[in-house]
Amino acid sequence: MKQTYQVNKDGFYGEYGGAFIPEMLYPNIKELQESYETIIESQEFQKELKQLLQDYVGRPTPLYFAKRLSAHYGAAIYLKREDLCHTGAHKINNALGQILLAKKLNKTRIIAETGAGQHGVATATACALMGLKCFVYMGAKDIKRQAPNVARMKMLGAEIIPVNSGSKTLKDATNEAIRDWINNATDTHYIIGSVVGPHPYPDMVARLQSVISEEIKKQLNQNPTHIIACIGGGSNAIGAFYHYLNEENVQLIGVEAAGKGVDTQATAATLALGNQGVLHACMTTLLQTADGQVIEPYSISAGLDYPGIGPQHAHLHKIQRVNYDNVTDKEALEAAHFLSKTEGIIPALESAHALAYLNKMEIKPSDRIVINLSGRGDKDLETLTKNM
Ligand SMILES: *Cc1c(COP(=O)(O)O)cnc(C)c1O
Repeated sequence: MKQTYQVNKDGFYGEYGGAFIPEMLYPNIKELQESYETIIESQEFQKELKQLLQDYVGRPTPLYFAKRLSAHYGAAIYLKREDLCHTGAHKINNALGQILLAKKLNKTRIIAETGAGQHGVATATACALMGLKCFVYMGAKDIKRQAPNVARMKMLGAEIIPVNSGSKTLKDATNEAIRDWINNATDTHYIIGSVVGPHPYPDMVARLQSVISEEIKKQLNQNPTHIIACIGGGSNAIGAFYHYLNEENVQLIGVEAAGKGVDTQATAATLALGNQGVLHACMTTLLQTADGQVIEPYSISAGLDYPGIGPQHAHLHKIQRVNYDNVTDKEALEAAHFLSKTEGIIPALESAHALAYLNKMEIKPSDRIVINLSGRGDKDLETLTKNM
């Protein structure tokens, strides 16, 4: 892999990344930094993970040729069906990998943060499977608006810890999870849900999600012309791009949530509007005020409602290997309804952002476009039907 696209030995992608951590977290991070590559690459780990991904998650997920969608847009369009993963999204790929890692490190207690609840559900699932105690930090506001996923986590035996600080959403839940980790350094592993946070998380999560593009490579005998994925922190996108980063003839497109529009205050389009700074212990691009306070993001889709982005994306944006664009709430809603009626697949609102990009791009008949359908829309039914 071309070195400029991947993390260096100090944990940086160009000027982004690193581990800007309080001293008390140093032992935990150091332990992870020194062990993650060896553990993940080991035959024993790979064998165990592959078996789980196959028999428990249902991988490989299909690469579905969407015939009616293709006819509509006049090109070959394929959907990578991460929505068919157990628990309904790609997040389980990462949660299972990290739970196996936690076991190898002899950790007995698992913590996680969650916004929409998808990562919380994936982590609670992995913990139930392995018989480990699970604590999920969740903003009080998110607990109210994501009731179905809160119920799922409880059903799976996880303990949900409401966070009442700040805006009572994802970034505050992340702060509290980090605080917990500092206080419980020896027995606890923190499962971060995207390619964000201190090194080695962005690289570790990217490797665990790279199974998505590994499968696409086997499923499509010719390179696609485009791969399109939505971006919250950026884990499903990196997973879909990973094994194509060196194939310069494949156009990679990351779609951020514009919310009500990039010309309004209600947006989560980090790369379009943000600038460089440190968020959750890593140097990246984020939405911030002139004096460095995090600006509250907004998107109709809770999974994309994050004020930062993974450092690898910040870097791939800077060196222009990946194109980043954004799509509004309205455009995403329309795309979700269109896919439902055209292909009989109800997508997550997050994934609908990637679909909506089809209306913004120039399409040629010879194009072979892969869209990463990161999750299913059951959790969004209320929002979707309110906006018919
Ligand atoms: C969490 C989530 C996302 C956003 O997270 P990434 O790390 O950017 O992938 C996208 N789609 C679905 C279905 C999700 O649950």
